[in-house]
Amino acid sequence: MMKMHYSMAHEPLLELSTRDALVANMKKAGIEKIWIAGFLSGDMIDLEELKQAKAFAEQNGLEVGALTIPVGHPGNSLNPDDPDSKLTIPAHWHYRIDKRGETAYFCGAIDTFLIEDNGKAAKLLCDAGFKEVFLDDDLRIGNLNDSIEGCYCDACVTEFNAIYRRQETRETLRARLADKLDLALMKDWVAFQCDKVTAVMKATEMEGVQPGIMVMHFGDERHGIDIPAIREQIPNTLFRVGEHQFNDRKFANPYAKGEEMLGIAYHLNFIDKPFAYSETTIFPPRSLKAHNLVYKAKLAIAAGLENILFMSGTWAMDDSYWKAIANALPVLRAFDKACADGERTYPVHLAYGTHGAYAEPIIPTSLPVLAGLPVKPLRADQCDGDGELLLFFGDYELTPQWQAKLPLYNQVIFDQKAALKNKAIIEALMATASNLVCWDQVATSKPDIAEVSLLQARIGQEASDFPRVAEGEPYRVGMAEELREGHFI
Ligand SMILES: [Zn+2]
Repeated sequence: MMKMHYSMAHEPLLELSTRDALVANMKKAGIEKIWIAGFLSGDMIDLEELKQAKAFAEQNGLEVGALTIPVGHPGNSLNPDDPDSKLTIPAHWHYRIDKRGETAYFCGAIDTFLIEDNGKAAKLLCDAGFKEVFLDDDLRIGNLNDSIEGCYCDACVTEFNAIYRRQETRETLRARLADKLDLALMKDWVAFQCDKVTAVMKATEMEGVQPGIMVMHFGDERHGIDIPAIREQIPNTLFRVGEHQFNDRKFANPYAKGEEMLGIAYHLNFIDKPFAYSETTIFPPRSLKAHNLVYKAKLAIAAGLENILFMSGTWAMDDSYWKAIANALPVLRAFDKACADGERTYPVHLAYGTHGAYAEPIIPTSLPVLAGLPVKPLRADQCDGDGELLLFFGDYELTPQWQAKLPLYNQVIFDQKAALKNKAIIEALMATASNLVCWDQVATSKPDIAEVSLLQARIGQEASDFPRVAEGEPYRVGMAEELREGHFI
């Protein structure tokens, strides 16, 4: 069942002249739970104010959880309209140093001080009556890109060398992570980063507190986020599957919507639905129109999420947004019900790398989504028995782990980019495997209509009989004629 949430600062809940209207707006929009920021980049929000805000919301029938900004964020991700936003980190934390030796401002590296402070914050929030602490925007050690990141300051590199018995420097690490030839080193460095993020999570886990973490769009081990390890150590962890496209300029692109669908489906490979939350975010303020915010919520539901979590930084959404969500509420509920009633299967898999430590392209092509295929991204270490067709598209390596999985599919299609990258291996495999096909096209990162048609035509040549989506209606391969005549099955 769908549940709607809103993440916000506590101040609007203390504003006597406007708070009744705000809560009424939220309730009309179907919001059942709010998440109040309690700890921002090392600073604790006044606990008495937090308690008052929480009490007011609860008196009005809302559930209340806490969230934190555990390490700071590279750049002002809270509210660029607000010149008073406090973005510096505490003096006893240290800034993350990138592999070029430059400082990543606004953002703390994860060290014992930062871990301890986050643990203390969770304890204070717990004592103030909060039962969940979502480590939100943004617990990770790198930004949205392909590269392996982390803190490359002298102290962190020394710590790494001590734990992993190595003699690296920032320069050697930079070179090895760029040439990608020393996989053992890449895996060690990534494991070192993941242990740091997981340690912050562990510090916030205590009796009476359920921790959560926001996971960036396609965030994985290369950003310090090892979801299986976090789940193993803290099984009840909540996850925001941090998606993207927070403003109209980005979200308006069909390929961007497709990427968001893929991103959610990919993270759901690791997470059970009740623990997964959307990132239905507007950023910067007002930059995503109300109808697009509603669309984003629908998209999250379609992708398989039940907890829809709206967010707009420290700017509180204004009336127009709440009205739009309230107006859309019956549709969202019907949509949720329709999605919940059906069994979800993905006969088409999109090969999405082998492991975060391989630093392969972070955003896969959304072409199969735009072509209406029931597709989800899967990486080599993930299993899913329902795959019939594997699309191996883009600059991903056909590693031994992937080679072992190829016989599980009725058919595997390589696009030109993947075929070129893995030429010798594919040629060798084709000598004995009959299910491998090279497609004479490149699946691009911004597919147009022509590319979509080409893929649909290519898939149409096969005998696959899985449902597909076209023009918002389901149909089966070979039923295009009926579709044109207006008959749907
Ligand atoms: Zn450091």
